[in-house]
Amino acid sequence: MNRFNVRKVAVLGAGVMGAQIAAHLVNVKVPVILFDLPAKDGPKNGIVTKAVEGLKKLKPAPLGVPEDAALIEQANYEEHLARLGECDLVIEAIAERMDWKLDLYTKIAPALAAHAIVASNTSGLSITKLAAVLPESIRPRFCGIHFFNPPRYMALVELIATPDTGPGILDELEAFVTTALGKSVVRAQDTPNFIANRVGIAGMLATMKEAETYGLSYDVVDDLTGKKLGRASSGTFRTADVVGLDTMAHVIKTLQDNLHEDPFFASYATPPVLQKLLDAGALGQKTGAGFYKKVGKDILRFDPASGEYVPGGGKADEIVARILKKPPAERLKLLHDSKNPQAQFLWAILRDSFHYAAVHLADIADSARDIDFAMRWGFGTSQGPFELWQQAGWAQVAQWVKEDIDAGRALSSAPLPPWVFEGPSGGVHRPEGSWSAAHARFVAPSTLPVYRRQLFRESVYGADATPPLKAGTEVFKNDEARVWSLDGAVLIASITAKLHLISPGVVEGLLKAVELAEQSYQGLVIWSPDDVFSAGANLEALMPVFMKSGGKGILPEVKKLQDAMLRIRYAQVPVVAALRGIALGGGCELALYSSKRVAAMESYMGFVEVGVGLLPAGGGLAYVARRAAEMAGAANANADILKFLTDGFTSAAMAKVGTSAIESRKLGYLLWSDVIVPHKDELLHVATQQVKAMAESGWRAPARTRFAVAGRNAIATIKAQLVNMRDGGFISAHDFAISALIADVVCGGDVDAGSLVNEEYLMALERKHFCALLDDPKTQERIMGMLQTGKPVRN
Ligand code: NAD
Repeated sequence: MNRFNVRKVAVLGAGVMGAQIAAHLVNVKVPVILFDLPAKDGPKNGIVTKAVEGLKKLKPAPLGVPEDAALIEQANYEEHLARLGECDLVIEAIAERMDWKLDLYTKIAPALAAHAIVASNTSGLSITKLAAVLPESIRPRFCGIHFFNPPRYMALVELIATPDTGPGILDELEAFVTTALGKSVVRAQDTPNFIANRVGIAGMLATMKEAETYGLSYDVVDDLTGKKLGRASSGTFRTADVVGLDTMAHVIKTLQDNLHEDPFFASYATPPVLQKLLDAGALGQKTGAGFYKKVGKDILRFDPASGEYVPGGGKADEIVARILKKPPAERLKLLHDSKNPQAQFLWAILRDSFHYAAVHLADIADSARDIDFAMRWGFGTSQGPFELWQQAGWAQVAQWVKEDIDAGRALSSAPLPPWVFEGPSGGVHRPEGSWSAAHARFVAPSTLPVYRRQLFRESVYGADATPPLKAGTEVFKNDEARVWSLDGAVLIASITAKLHLISPGVVEGLLKAVELAEQSYQGLVIWSPDDVFSAGANLEALMPVFMKSGGKGILPEVKKLQDAMLRIRYAQVPVVAALRGIALGGGCELALYSSKRVAAMESYMGFVEVGVGLLPAGGGLAYVARRAAEMAGAANANADILKFLTDGFTSAAMAKVGTSAIESRKLGYLLWSDVIVPHKDELLHVATQQVKAMAESGWRAPARTRFAVAGRNAIATIKAQLVNMRDGGFISAHDFAISALIADVVCGGDVDAGSLVNEEYLMALERKHFCALLDDPKTQERIMGMLQTGKPVRN
C-alpha cells in the first residue's frame, strides 16, 4: 500500500479562514505552520501572532481548547520560506485576489517539497487559471480545497481538480480530509463559486428579490426561511449578516464577472438594499449593523423605505407555519395554490431553487447528489433542492415550475432541461445512484476505501438506504433501547429514548446487551445514530415515585442505576461508549463506566446535576474519587490525593461541560487512552474496531480493588474555600450545601486520609446525599424550574 502521509501542513494566510483552518488542524493533531506576510513594524511574525491570539477569543470557538493555539507554528514568507519544504500539504488561504495569489505561488514554488500537494481555499476563482503560473512540475499536484466558515463546524469541503491535476491526488486528499479532518467532501467542477456557494448564493439573491416582490420584511423572511423551512436557523438575511455583507458581495461579484452567459445572469445583480448597506459601511455582524442592528437588548431591522432601523420580531403567519409542518407533497401543493403572500413567496423561492439546480446540474456538479449534499453540508439545510422536489412528487412539481417559467413568473426564462421530463422518471435519486445530467445516467456514490469506514454513510432521499435502527440483526428491543449487531461479532446497544434520557427501560436494554454480549459476542458498543449520546437520567420518570414516598423512595432506583454502571464496568467483555454530542449527568457516567470511550470531536461531556440541585449519583463522584487515587498512585506513592481531586471536584461542583472532546478530556471525562474521532460517521466503525482489538488482545475487566481517599481533612480544606466563595457572594447558600456534599463523597466521607474504600461504599454516600437533596425545597425548586422552563434556577 502506498501511504499518503501528511506529517505537516502549511497554511498560507492567517486571515479569517487560514487561522481557523490552522486551528482545526491542531484540533485533529495535524502539525501546522501558519504563514502570513512579514509585519512592517515589530516582530516579523506579527500578523500571524495577532491572528493566533485572536483564535483564543473567537466565537464559536475554532479550537478544542484555547491553549492549543500554542501548537500552531508561526512563520512569514520573508524569514521562513524554506520551511515549506517540511510540508506534505500546503493550503493557500490569502485574500481573494487572483493577482495576489499568483504572485504568492511564484514566490513559494521553489521552496515546495517535490511531492507536496498544493491547494487553494479560494471561494470561487478558477483553479485552472491559478494553476497556470505554477511550474509544470507542481501543476499535477495542485487543486482546490474549499472549506466553509467556520471550518471546525461546517462539514463541507469542496475539492476541485484542474485538467492537469494528477490521477489519485484528489483521492488521497479526500481520504485525508474525511478521516483526519472529519469533513465531508463533495467534488466540484471548476466553475465560478463551485457548487454550494453557486447554488446557495443564487438562492439568497432569489430570496431577497422575491421578498421584495411579495413585500415581506427581513424578520418575517428569516422566520419563514429558517428552521421552519428546514434550513439554518438564522434564515436568509441574518445569515448574510453573519457571513459579512462584503464577503457576500465578493461572491456575488464573482458570479457577475464570470457568468455572462448564464441564463440567470440578471438575477445576480446586487440587490439595491445590499449596495446601500455596503455604501454605509454596514457590513453585518462584524460592524454591528447590516440587515439587522442590535441596540441594547433589541434587534432592529433595516427598513429600506425609510433607511432607518425599526423594531423587528415579525413572524410567519400561523397558517403558513402550519403548512410548513405538512408532508412535502401536501406542503408544496398548499404553498403553490395559496393566495397568502407568504405562502406564494415560499413557493416562489422553492421554485427558483428547483429551476436553478436543474438548469445548472450538468455544468457544476457530477450528479444531483453532489448539489444536495453541498447544500446540506455547506448551508446547513436538512435537504437539498432535488431531494425536496423528488419527495414532493417529481412530475407534478416539474409541471408547476414549467408553468411558472412559461408564464414569465420565474427568475429566468430558461426552460427546464429535457432530462427533467424525459430522463429519470420519479426523480433524480435512486438506490443505484443519482442522476448525472452531464453523463445522462445515474452515478453511484464514490467507492473510495475511506467510505468503508462509514458504516452508515449519509445518503439522500430516494437512495433508500437502510436506516441504522432498522439495520443488522436485532436481538432485543423495548421502547427505549435497541440491541443489535451488524456482523455477529460485536453487539451494539442504541438508546432510542427522547434525548436518550436514561430511564428504567434504557437500563433494562443496557443490562440485556451486556448479558447477551457476554454470552456470544466479542464485546459491546453503545452507539446511537443521532447526535446525542445521552442528556442524563430521566428525572421526570422518577417523579411519581418521589411524589409517593419522597427522597427515600428513590433510593432503590438510584441503586439500580449504580449497579448497572458497575455491571458495565466489570462486564466480561469490553464495552465501548461511542459518543457524539451531549453526554451529560447519567450519560457522562455511562461513558465513564464503559471500558473505553471513542468520542467524536464534537462531544460535550459533563456533570450538570448541580443545575437541578442534585449531585452525580450514578457513580460519577465515585469515579472522580477513584481517578484521583489512580493518578496520585501513578505520580508518587505518598502523593496528596487532594491535589488530584481538585479538577474533578470543581468540574462537578460548577457543572462544567466540555465544549469539545478535547476539553471534555481536559475536564477528566475522557482519558488519554480514549480515542477522539474527527468524522462523526466513522464513530461506529472505530468503536467496533476498538472492541475487536481489545477482545483480540485478551482484554479482561479491571480488578475490583479498594483505593485510598483523601478523607475528612481534605473535606475541611475544600469547605474552607467554599465558605469564602459563599461569603464573597460567588455561590449561593444552596450551591454551598451541594458542593459540600460533593466534597464529602469525593473525599470518602468522615474517614482518615489514605483510608481504603471501594466503589460501593462511595456510591452509598452518593445515594444518601442525593436522596437528602431531593427532599430539600431548594432542590425541588430547581427541578421544577428545569422541567417547566428548561432553564436552571439559581437559588
Ligand atoms: P482575510 O481577508 O481574512 O485574510 C486574508 C489574508 O491574506 C490576510 O491574513 C492577509 O494578510 C493575507 N494577504 C493579503 N494580501 C496578501 C498578499 N498579497 N500575499 C500574501 N498574503 C496576503 O480573508 P479570508 O476571509 O480568510 O479569505 C481567504 C481565502 O479563503 C479567500 O480566497 C476566500 O475567498 C476564501 N474563503 C473565505 C471564506 C469566508 O467566509 N471568509 C470562506 C471560504 C473561503
